[in-house]
Amino acid sequence: MKKQVIVLALCAMLPLTALCQSKQKHTQASSERMTEMSIRGEWIDQPSDSPKYQSDNGHETQKMAQPKAKRAKNVIIIIGDGMGTAQVYSSIVAQRGKSNFLRFPFSGFSRTYSNNKYTTDSGAGGTAIVGGKKTNNKFVGMAADSTDILSFLELAHAQGMATGFVVTCSVLDATPASTYGTVPYRKMFDTLSDQFSHIPFEVMIGGGLHEFLPENRKDGKHPLDTLVQRGYEVAYSLDALRKAQSNKLVALVSEPFYTERASVRGPLLQVGVEKALNILTQNKEGFAMMIEGSQIDWACHNNDAEHMAEEMADFEKMLQIVLDFAERDGNTLVVVTADHETGGLVLLSGDIEKGTNECKYMTGDHSGVMVPVFAYGPGAEQFSGIQNNTEIFAKLFKAMGKTMPATKK
Ligand SMILES: [Zn+2]
Repeated sequence: MKKQVIVLALCAMLPLTALCQSKQKHTQASSERMTEMSIRGEWIDQPSDSPKYQSDNGHETQKMAQPKAKRAKNVIIIIGDGMGTAQVYSSIVAQRGKSNFLRFPFSGFSRTYSNNKYTTDSGAGGTAIVGGKKTNNKFVGMAADSTDILSFLELAHAQGMATGFVVTCSVLDATPASTYGTVPYRKMFDTLSDQFSHIPFEVMIGGGLHEFLPENRKDGKHPLDTLVQRGYEVAYSLDALRKAQSNKLVALVSEPFYTERASVRGPLLQVGVEKALNILTQNKEGFAMMIEGSQIDWACHNNDAEHMAEEMADFEKMLQIVLDFAERDGNTLVVVTADHETGGLVLLSGDIEKGTNECKYMTGDHSGVMVPVFAYGPGAEQFSGIQNNTEIFAKLFKAMGKTMPATKK
C-alpha cells in the first residue's frame, strides 16, 4: 500500500502544520493497536528527498549568554507531557529553524520506564521527575510501598525558597498533582483537591475548577474557601489572572477537567509564567518552579497533529519567556524534558522553509522511548548523556549546592 501524505495550507493562527492520515480514539485495545501498527508499517516508504529540507539554513544552534553564577539560585523544570524527540523536531521545523529548543547548550536523554511498566503514565513519570523516585503507573507522589514522595517544590519550600507551578491542564491532573499530592490512584480528585487546599506554594496556575465546587464533590468540602482563608487570591479567568495583584495566587481559569486547547484557551501558559516569575522572583532565597505543556500528550493520544502543532507553538512561546528571563538573570537553571513520549510519532518528510511536517502516529497511547532533556544555566552540563528520569531531581539539588533531603514525609 502506498502512503498518502496530505499537506494542507497553513492556518493563519498556526506556525506549524503537521498532518497525519489517521485519527485514533484516546483508548484502544492493545490488540487493535498492534494490528494498526503492522498495517501502517507497510505504508512507510522512503520520504521524498527535498533539497530545502536538507538545507543548513535555520538549523544552527543559537548562542546563549554564559550564566553568571556557578551555583543555581533558582531552578525551573519544564515538562512537555508526551513530548518526544519527534515532537521537538516537528517544532524546530515548524518554527522554520528559529526554535527556542536550539538555544540550549546542553542536552541529553531520559529513560522513562516506571516501577511496574515498560511504558510509564504521567503519574509515575511526573513523580519520578519531581520526586526522584520510580513508582507504579497511576500513583502520584506515592511510592510503590505506599510511602510518600516529597517533590522538589515541597523540599525547596522547606528550605525557604519560593515555589509554584503553571500548567495547561487541571491543577489536579497527574503532573501538577505530583508536585503536592500523595495518592495511590491519580483520579482521586476529592483527595487531591483537599491536598491542593493545603499546598504551601506561592503560585499555582491552571484549570479544573469543576472538581473544587462542593456540588460536584462527594465530601461536600469547599477547598477554595480553605485557600482564601489561607490568604490566597483566586483568579477564575485569564483576564482575572492578568489583573491579579496578590503574591499568593491560585488561578483556575477554566471549569472542565479537560481544559481548552491552545487556540481556544489563549496565552494562559505565557501570562501564567510571567505572573509566576513576578511573584517568585521577590524571594531573596530564590525559587523553584514547575511548568507543564500538558496537552501535547492529549493531542498525540488523539493522533491530532494540528492540535499537537498548536501545543508545540504555545510551548515555544513559553520557552522564549523562560530562556530570556534565565539569560538576563544568570542564576537560574532551566531544564526541559518530558515524562514520556505519546503517539509513537514518526516524521516522514517536511519543509523547513514552509514550516510543515508530514507525520504518522503509530499508537494512541504512550511509547517507551527515551525522551530528550535540554538544560541551560548553572549546573546545566550535568544533564548531558543518558540519565534515568529520577536522576533529574538529584541534579537540581546539586546545581543549587544543596544537600538532597530525605524523600519521606
Ligand atoms: Zn498521556
